Amino acid sequence: MKLNLTDVLLEDKSFDQEVPIELESLEYSFGSFPIREKSSALISIRKDEEKMLNIHGTASITVSIPCDRCLEDVQVTLDLDFDEKVRTGADRGPAEAERVPEDAAEDAGSAFEPDYYLQGYYLDVDKLLFGEALLNWPSRVLCREDCKGLCPVCGQNLNNGDCGCVRKALDPQMSKVLDIFSKFKEV
Ligand SMILES: [Zn+2]
Ligand SMILES: [Zn+2]
Repeated sequence: MKLNLTDVLLEDKSFDQEVPIELESLEYSFGSFPIREKSSALISIRKDEEKMLNIHGTASITVSIPCDRCLEDVQVTLDLDFDEKVRTGADRGPAEAERVPEDAAEDAGSAFEPDYYLQGYYLDVDKLLFGEALLNWPSRVLCREDCKGLCPVCGQNLNNGDCGCVRKALDPQMSKVLDIFSKFKEV
């Protein structure tokens, strides 16, 4: 949903509202993740004395992410709680907004600049949340701590029982075949 920030930018009014989240899934370069549950987003925006746009937001989004080991879907809730500062002002149109990182580390982790979610006097809440969700992405997703993963030989989910494959010691003939394949890949 796009918010009209004309009053905030020109009249110095503050914006404080519950905004419905329209995103149905999160589509990143590393995968596509359906949203299973979502709250509405609470968004507060005001312009401060230094003509910085202060955006505070909270939202809760539950997405399906495959387990790192067995690939079964895991429901992960991302509790977003963020503050963004965006430079704006009469001499600088909001369309040329510039994100002000709170620290260098945060800046390095940010894939999305304000230009992505701020266009002219409009703020696209879904695009903002899309970027915030990425910043809060879990580094590891497991269906359970002791997930046994998939058998590398037959692909069976080992949480459902052992398949009986010999996994550690590969047949020497088979190893040679694998060597050939890995050489082939390097070319
Ligand atoms: Zn798992
Ligand atoms: Zn197996």
